[in-house]
Amino acid sequence: MSRIAFIGLGHMGGPMAANLLKAGHELCVFDLVPAAVEAAVALGARAAADAAEAVRGAEVVISMLPASRHVEGLYLDDGGLLAQLAPDALAIDCSTIAPASAQKVAAAAAARGIAMIDAPVSGGTAGAAAGTLTFIVGGEAAALERARPLLEAMGRNVFHMGASGAGQVAKLCNNMALGVIMAATGEALALGAAHGLDPAALSKMMAVSTGRSWATEVCNPWPGVLENAPASRGYQGGFGSDLMLKDLGLAAEAAMGVGAPIPLGELARNLYALNGRAGRGGLDFSSVIRLLARDGAQ
Ligand code: NAD
Repeated sequence: MSRIAFIGLGHMGGPMAANLLKAGHELCVFDLVPAAVEAAVALGARAAADAAEAVRGAEVVISMLPASRHVEGLYLDDGGLLAQLAPDALAIDCSTIAPASAQKVAAAAAARGIAMIDAPVSGGTAGAAAGTLTFIVGGEAAALERARPLLEAMGRNVFHMGASGAGQVAKLCNNMALGVIMAATGEALALGAAHGLDPAALSKMMAVSTGRSWATEVCNPWPGVLENAPASRGYQGGFGSDLMLKDLGLAAEAAMGVGAPIPLGELARNLYALNGRAGRGGLDFSSVIRLLARDGAQ
């Protein structure tokens, strides 16, 4: 069993930490929000007053923070974690951040002899709670093997995509495709509905035809088509439209870095920006259909 410092106990980090506790690991936790720390303590974690205290004596630190600036601040700032961690420690950052940020932090860690992997996740809050996340990893294979038992306590699949930052690149590729496909599915259902088709019947046909996708079969954007989809509960829960916007922004940045054309990704990014401006940034990203549908999905 490992002594783990877990930093960032939000929608994802909270249930991930809970699964590590369930697997018998010793956790010392920190979050800026005291209620998040208290929830983990109620499950058996030890509370730290700050991140530096959390990593004292830890063999492994796992971070699950919102964005690049939080991760760079946590590890690189004056008195940041790289200055506090034992030289043989392992750092696992599960946040979705810019590949360049992940590489910058991992290089600074390596300079101190600390092994670090980027291990962003797919599977959402439901996957975090059920312990069925997919980990998409960048970094040295040896560091991944040290991390593997912990990742397997929180998830079902682990993919090693390459060197440092490769996990982030792969995660952004997945989410860019997802963002585009969701908008395209919304557009198709809205077109059918405008012609008087029943969106449920159209979805059923598409789900066994070449237009099938996770967006038609699991997270259908038309309310009432799938009982358990966010669309059928006012787009509450699920994966926030603003989080999709963040990931598409990171994809655009990554594309510019290598001169890659991503015309559909850029278009989708603008659609989710408009969706947020329309007041739906906090709703599930499938609410993007509301930019496109004349009625029914309103
Ligand atoms: P969240 O906002 O719910 O949680 C982030 C937590 O980090 C918050 O509790 C916040 O207080 C804490 N925090 C921020 N800065 C901190 C600091 N310096 N020290 C300690 N704690 C700090 O976000 P989330 O939904 O848990 O997402 C976390 C990451 O996972 C993001 O990068 C997101 O893109 C990614 N992600 C989210 C989902 C999802 O469905 N929510 C799915 C896959 C990936």
